[in-house]
Amino acid sequence: MDKYPALRIDHSKLKYNMKTIVGWCTEAGIDVAGIIKVSNGLPSAALDYEEAGAKWIGSSRIEQLRGAKNAGVKVPLLMIRVPMLSELDEIVEVCDYSLQSEIRTLEAINEAAAAAGKIHNVILMADTGDLREGFIDYDEMTEVAVKVENELHNLHLAGIGTNLGCTGSVKPTGEKMELLVSIAEKIEKAIGRELEIISGGASSSLMPVFDGVMPERVNMLRIGEASFVGDMGDLRTAYGRTEADGLYGDVVTLDAQVIESKTKPSHPIGELGVNAFGERPVYVDRGNRRRILLGVGRADYGETGDLVPLLDGAFIEAASGDHTIVDIEECKTKLEVGDIMTFKLKYSAILRLSGSENVKIYEK
Ligand SMILES: *Cc1c(COP(=O)(O)O)cnc(C)c1O
Repeated sequence: MDKYPALRIDHSKLKYNMKTIVGWCTEAGIDVAGIIKVSNGLPSAALDYEEAGAKWIGSSRIEQLRGAKNAGVKVPLLMIRVPMLSELDEIVEVCDYSLQSEIRTLEAINEAAAAAGKIHNVILMADTGDLREGFIDYDEMTEVAVKVENELHNLHLAGIGTNLGCTGSVKPTGEKMELLVSIAEKIEKAIGRELEIISGGASSSLMPVFDGVMPERVNMLRIGEASFVGDMGDLRTAYGRTEADGLYGDVVTLDAQVIESKTKPSHPIGELGVNAFGERPVYVDRGNRRRILLGVGRADYGETGDLVPLLDGAFIEAASGDHTIVDIEECKTKLEVGDIMTFKLKYSAILRLSGSENVKIYEK
């Protein structure tokens, strides 16, 4: 008998999504790095990406890249979080490429590579306005590029990149991509050769591809979300883009078991204070309603808004750390104790559920 909560991962759908994305990108002259962090680095996802045509496998966590390597991934591995000084030896050992934004770290990783007798590939990050990682002073970035090129002999300056649509929610427009290319050209002039890689961003940077405004020279995107979350991802839910609607939004689903099924009032009874999280929600009085309690909660998935019940008419009423209350009054099927409710998931729910010790992962 299966254990619950169960996170189900459909590899044929994941491969289909990634193959479709690789197809879009190839047509635009772009290679894809498949990013596995959303599933906490599930090695089988890395193998799916590789089979679907990803030219790199990337993650923000070195442990996940080591897992991919141990699982037999053959394509180069890319560290996408600018590294900590404390992990440089491991990065040089496990990864072929890393994103970088500090001269101090570049000097240190050059030493680590020298000690290991290796040449490590670096991609310098430009901050084009999203204000997370990267050089925001492009003169400084050029000076650092020249230094990597001429003085840090165990590093190879493979290219530059940027990240958008993340902490600063800045849209990856055609203009931002042009800016990135102009920074690359400035650096190329200073070092006297072409850069191999111009890395234009993450899943959100598929938008300039869809719009046909991606400059020719942008030739790498780092894609996780779009392949894993499909039409449940930001392209659809935040940007309202429909181009990704052909992708599966149910690569990963959550099955939770009913632990109570009763008709109760929809408004709490008594003097209201705060809920389990110190919040003061507004409760709507809809009279008596059939509601179920599921054996899964915010400790497992985070926010109820990141779960979408597949059962028609069902909606999440509330949740605590370990319980989720779903109103099923309008549903044709009346779920009873022991029955299973299935949810589609947004990005952060997949991220949390795949890392939760209480959740069993089933792959098919
Ligand atoms: C997470 C991340 C990605 C992948 O983002 P998705 O939205 O999952 O496609 C790419 N690049 C960097 C630097 C990241 O941190």
